[in-house]
Amino acid sequence: MKIVRRIAVAAALAALALISVRAQPQPVLQPQQRSVIVITIDGLRWQEFFGGADPDYFKRDKSGSGGEPERRFGRADGGARRTALMPFMWNTIAARGQIFGDHDAASDSRLTNGLWFSYPGYNEMFAGRADPRIDTNDKIPNPNVTVLEWLNRRPGFEGRVAAFGSWDVLPSIVNVERSGITVGSGWKPVPAPATDRDNGINELAADLPRLWEYGPPDAPIVYAALEHLRTRRPRVLYVMLGEGDEWAHEGRYDLYLDAAQRADRFIERIWNVAQSMPEYRDQTTLLVTTDHGRGATTKDWTDHGREVPAAERTWIALLGPGVPPLGIRHEVKVTTAQIAATIAQMVGEDFRAATPAAAPPLRLER
Ligand SMILES: [Zn+2]
Repeated sequence: MKIVRRIAVAAALAALALISVRAQPQPVLQPQQRSVIVITIDGLRWQEFFGGADPDYFKRDKSGSGGEPERRFGRADGGARRTALMPFMWNTIAARGQIFGDHDAASDSRLTNGLWFSYPGYNEMFAGRADPRIDTNDKIPNPNVTVLEWLNRRPGFEGRVAAFGSWDVLPSIVNVERSGITVGSGWKPVPAPATDRDNGINELAADLPRLWEYGPPDAPIVYAALEHLRTRRPRVLYVMLGEGDEWAHEGRYDLYLDAAQRADRFIERIWNVAQSMPEYRDQTTLLVTTDHGRGATTKDWTDHGREVPAAERTWIALLGPGVPPLGIRHEVKVTTAQIAATIAQMVGEDFRAATPAAAPPLRLER
């Protein structure tokens, strides 16, 4: 009797365990299903991206020393400087993927929107073309259907597209009301917290210093994106990193470099988590880029916009299936508008079939 009851209890517990496992929505990707992760670093100049820290930009004391920032980021040659600034980008992505926009390689990556600030840049990137109607950073719902919204309606992608970014204009850029994409933004990095961990991430965001009124520094946003990746298995994940642009506007070259290095660490972490999961390993493409450049001199590097020469210059890095390991691409001209169709192509979809006016995908074969 006792034994029977124990068995019954054990069976009930096992059933409960099964139910609780079933209750968690964790779709599993089929082996042939491709995914894409897009990460942007707001306003990171091609100058630092390809050349690392520029010694002319450090603040120096009377003895001429650039202090801790120079010790941390300064190196004798440009190759060592860029690797010191973004080790994952240069040791892994450049070695096994492709990078566009290197001046020294006659590689030209630029915006076509003519405005050279954030919302027009993100619209161009995700809608596949510049739109003169998008001429402010105001929270106006994007009239264009972005590739994120379009994919979110494609078979196999419904509810599997998510975007995370501290900047509270992100929901407007992806037109969250119309697109139905999962968006974690502003002071609520996890949009629908369901676990202690989710709540912990949102509490951390609220407990950080309020440096900017729109939202927290990037860390809790990245934690929210990683948690979403681990538990919700999106096929299209977008992470918008924004700290560096803020520090640049404030003239803090040290913190701008610090943010670039941290962005590199976040990219590596997101990539490694994806590669550790069977659903994503070897079938996920990573695309990293920026929404605009900045001024090209010590006087105007802090700024960008149509009055700032050179701020239209960008860079694009890719890694994963569909990206032959050609490293730095030489003698090519590409635009930020090409990113939308490239994102779709990485998951086997044709964005231009729906939006013929969108720019063609990047040519990744030689
Ligand atoms: Zn800016």
